[in-house]
Amino acid sequence: MKIIILGSGTSQGVPKIGCYCETCISKNPKDKRLRTSAYIEIQGQKILIDTSVDFRQQMLNNNITDLDAILYTHHHVDHILGLDDVRQINQLHKKYIDLYGNNLTMEEIKTTFRYAFNEEMIKHLAVPLIKINKIENKNFKIRNIDVIPIEVMHGKLPIFGYRIGNFAYITDCSRIPETELKKLKGLDVLILNALRIEPHPTHLNVEEAVRMAEKLKPKKTYLTHMTHDINHDKINSGLPKHIELAYDGLTININ
Ligand SMILES: [Zn+2]
Ligand SMILES: [Zn+2]
Ligand SMILES: [Zn+2]
Repeated sequence: MKIIILGSGTSQGVPKIGCYCETCISKNPKDKRLRTSAYIEIQGQKILIDTSVDFRQQMLNNNITDLDAILYTHHHVDHILGLDDVRQINQLHKKYIDLYGNNLTMEEIKTTFRYAFNEEMIKHLAVPLIKINKIENKNFKIRNIDVIPIEVMHGKLPIFGYRIGNFAYITDCSRIPETELKKLKGLDVLILNALRIEPHPTHLNVEEAVRMAEKLKPKKTYLTHMTHDINHDKINSGLPKHIELAYDGLTININ
């Protein structure tokens, strides 16, 4: 299994428009963060997690030209709005793309992208060709790949993280219910959100994410969905050895 972190930034991205703080003007490429998304290749299947606002740039940056399925964590704009550019994948490979998400996420996508369900537009290939698959908090398959949804809380909103094999991806989480923690045992790699240094009502901060990683004990944890509060080198150097900040383009291989 190969995983690429396509974006590690919060909803406004880093640098933030009009900000000249240390991180926003940093020359370190690890301080440039597109909006949060990841790509997984496993047994020939190409799976994307979320279509961030930066989807097109992320496909170009990483030379990704095909997708089989998209797993959605939730419907917030930073996680869905790049969906229109899936058109290019449809046209290149003459296929529909399967979308997976909970009921609310799929309904919100149907509303936000209502033009994509217009028969006339579909005929002219002027819209993303997508197939909605509503999932519940139960294991399901994408072709032959087993996917385990993990229902986590994003403030008061229940959203999905996902586990595939010994890899799990959780973003925009502020709390993981006890019943879901059990699904996160024995991981090789965990991607977990850590918004900033200060606490936040709907996202884990760095301290809380580190505490969560130490409780779950994956072999390796990478933190993502970060604001400009987090200067890569400064914060990364202070983390425990098995925990690191993710960065755009980070590639992880798991056997
Ligand atoms: Zn800044
Ligand atoms: Zn969100
Ligand atoms: Zn977000």
